[in-house]
Amino acid sequence: MRPVTVRVPAKINLQLSVGVRRDDGYHDLATVFQAVSLYDDLTVTAARRLRVTITGDHAGGVPADETNLAVRAIVALAGRVGLNPDVHVHVRKGIPVAGGMAGGSADAAAALVACDALWGLRLDRTELMDVAAELGSDVPFALVGGTAIGLGRGERLMPALARGTYHWVFALAEEGLSTPAVYAELDRLRGRRPGANPAAPNVSEALMTALRAGDAAALGAALTNDLQPAAGSLRPQLRLTMEVGREYGALGAILCGSGPTCAFLVRDHEQALDLAVALSAAGVCRSVKRAHGPVHGARIVDD
Ligand code: ATP
Repeated sequence: MRPVTVRVPAKINLQLSVGVRRDDGYHDLATVFQAVSLYDDLTVTAARRLRVTITGDHAGGVPADETNLAVRAIVALAGRVGLNPDVHVHVRKGIPVAGGMAGGSADAAAALVACDALWGLRLDRTELMDVAAELGSDVPFALVGGTAIGLGRGERLMPALARGTYHWVFALAEEGLSTPAVYAELDRLRGRRPGANPAAPNVSEALMTALRAGDAAALGAALTNDLQPAAGSLRPQLRLTMEVGREYGALGAILCGSGPTCAFLVRDHEQALDLAVALSAAGVCRSVKRAHGPVHGARIVDD
């Protein structure tokens, strides 16, 4: 069995509308995902026992045990098809860790695609999507990539009509933010009790129209994330980072998922370079990355 390498992208949420906390602890979401060109590469090789190694930026923040989401995905897939999950999985992290860009979920999706190929399973898309949805809300999107609407916990996907390529600049924070902590802060700020029953969130018409037209300026104006005030309350520095991006002429600024990475939509490659320099010079973030989207989901790459 030859090793298999899968490349998988990070995601951002162009819209993240959050309903109240449900009785099962989750929040109903209406979200629009876009896959962007920051990637993890995951390689699986047949081995005597299941083990994981990690390299790359902030690899130290990623667990190298059974709690790693790639390992959980491999165990789940092996269990489903009645195989032993005996592989060495190696992850080269290019996606910021704990940055709200779903790097762990991306690795879970990559592990499913990689082991499906390594073990010659040839599962159909629906079956892989089922396993993915059980592993986490963001895992199915990492399989498909592109631009998509997510409902439910974000795992119920519908393709979104999107034209054009968008240029993004990301300001990475010194330290990650815990997703549950940000949702808890949102609940606290909203002052509602768990179990309350408000209207379900909806996908924004303005945002969908901008995507259909490939209109970056209109998209920039339509970006919204309900978690932004909560993340800003836990990490006030984020407000300053956003402000710097807007001052330097970004078409739009938005928190990535539950943060703390801030995303800035810009006109083109040149403006991306300028904004990256400005953010670095202002000293408002740990580092800056540039990317474009949409890009495809988890895919096997030739070594
Ligand atoms: P979430 O998907 O919960 O919103 P996130 O996108 O902010 O998270 P991730 O990079 O997915 O950030 O990491 C969240 C946490 O998941 C990390 O702090 C890490 O401890 C854990 N984790 C488990 N497996 C992985 C993995 N393969 N890659 C990155 N983090 C992982």
